Amino acid sequence: MRWNEMTAREIVEAREKCGGVCVVPMGCIERHGDHLPVGIDYMKAWHFVDRAAELEPFMVFPGWYLGSLSDCTFAPGTIAFPLEICVNALEALCSEIARNGFKKILLINSHGGNEPMIQYFMQRFCEKDRDYMVYYPTHSFYISKGMVEARKKLDAETGSTSGHAGGYETAVSLHLFPQCVKMEMQLPREEGISDKRSEYMLNAGLKVPAWWFAAHPHHYGGFGKDCTAEHGKLITEAAAKDIAEYVRAIKADTTTMEIFREFREKTRHPEL
Ligand SMILES: [Zn+2]
Repeated sequence: MRWNEMTAREIVEAREKCGGVCVVPMGCIERHGDHLPVGIDYMKAWHFVDRAAELEPFMVFPGWYLGSLSDCTFAPGTIAFPLEICVNALEALCSEIARNGFKKILLINSHGGNEPMIQYFMQRFCEKDRDYMVYYPTHSFYISKGMVEARKKLDAETGSTSGHAGGYETAVSLHLFPQCVKMEMQLPREEGISDKRSEYMLNAGLKVPAWWFAAHPHHYGGFGKDCTAEHGKLITEAAAKDIAEYVRAIKADTTTMEIFREFREKTRHPEL
């Protein structure tokens, strides 16, 4: 069930069939080397989620592309919104989905930079009373255990590395949207390796703003020349299987909302 493809009446009828669960696939629009489309992160997240909905029924929301990219504006093709806009929009989106009767919202993220933004959003969620719940995998943007294993297999079998625009992203793109992949334009392996200049602070155990630019001035952090669509299919299936499993757990969850209400009540009247 895809939100944007349904009529208003069908959306109302879908609430029950979905067990009130809606999944938001999250990504961004940013450069991914010279061979992958800039929308890959929200596109692949959407495909993983859409495939999962064939295994366990739930509502699939269109791909979210207001990614956290304030440190990636040096690369052409990137669309970076101020972070406040992204977080406020995510909160507005969740409350709109809930207002339409889907009270359990799962965020599936596929862009590394969104991770701190989502953590901030989850933390801020506790500041108000809510009539809905949000869920986020502990595996964060790796999505799931099964997917991590499938990615390891890809690396072992092809000698590719799975960083930004590397083996994993190339493989899933070859499987999901091959028409958007320009394999002959893949940047050389050396350009995906961290720039030496960035090592000074990292070796001192410190993170600094623009660390990503310092480490990866070509906005490229992996290599995936020998990966195949077949590997991409394995990773996609693993992600879909685990997302379906999350949804089953969310459908069965009857306590999280209760606990959250209790937390809010105690927040108003803190007592020992
Ligand atoms: Zn990416």
